[in-house]
Amino acid sequence: DDAVTMTDVRKTYRVGEPVHALDGVTLSIPRGSYTAIMGPSGSGKSTLMNLVGCLDTPTSGTVAVDGEDISTLSERERTRLRGTRVGFVFQTFNLMPRLNALENVALPQLFRSVGRTERHDRARNLLERVGLGDRLDHLPNELSGGQRQRVALARALVNDPAIVLADEPSGNLDTKTEADVLDLFEEFHDAGTTLIVVTHERHVAERADRIVHLLDGNVERIESLEGGSEKA
Ligand code: ADP
Ligand code: ADP
Repeated sequence: DDAVTMTDVRKTYRVGEPVHALDGVTLSIPRGSYTAIMGPSGSGKSTLMNLVGCLDTPTSGTVAVDGEDISTLSERERTRLRGTRVGFVFQTFNLMPRLNALENVALPQLFRSVGRTERHDRARNLLERVGLGDRLDHLPNELSGGQRQRVALARALVNDPAIVLADEPSGNLDTKTEADVLDLFEEFHDAGTTLIVVTHERHVAERADRIVHLLDGNVERIESLEGGSEKA
């Protein structure tokens, strides 16, 4: 059983000339694996992540996420899947501007029936683990880019999702903070979370079990890394 199965997935944008952002991608992501996605700008990385993150549906082909075919789900069901079983760290963070860091991280737990105290305790714990224990009351616009990125990461992890997706998760971070974030990923990976990380940075990709290289909307090759858990 895979965390994600993409079968002959095509995504075509029609703004003037059609653009085949994904052009027949077939890819399985095993449960509990740690996958890095690399490829030049325009190769389809964001499009792939938006599909796996249930933000969008394919033009053709199927995308199964945690056992559910996303194109058969209603908008509402996709929102629930995204809120509970998939955690997504966007490049643009998408934090709620009027909520402070603690409230932003606590928010996705509204999908589950846990009380306010427990929601806040868990949010505080995650913010401490990403080094923001002293920024709980700050609004997003009172935080630096790297701090906002860590709030978004804590929010993605707060429901203990089966799958965590991150688009350039360490792009704005200094070396020390990046190391902390990558260590946190490793902790979740060790606990069985499936991780999918888009990165331009080779040293970030090398923390994964394998690297999926995209080129022009296709999987160019899959590189297994030493110590990876992938079967041939
Ligand atoms: P990167 O290669 O660093 O991921 P891009 O500039 O290719 O950055 O993409 C950034 C975001 O812009 C993505 O979310 C993508 O979906 C969106 N995007 C890229 N190209 C277009 C386009 N032609 N029209 C609308 N949105 C686009
Ligand atoms: P990457 O993340 O690897 O940079 P994207 O998935 O963002 O690649 O983009 C793949 C192709 O699809 C690019 O040619 C981009 O311009 C196009 N594209 C992406 N998003 C959109 C969109 N919302 N509308 C139109 N074209 C898009």
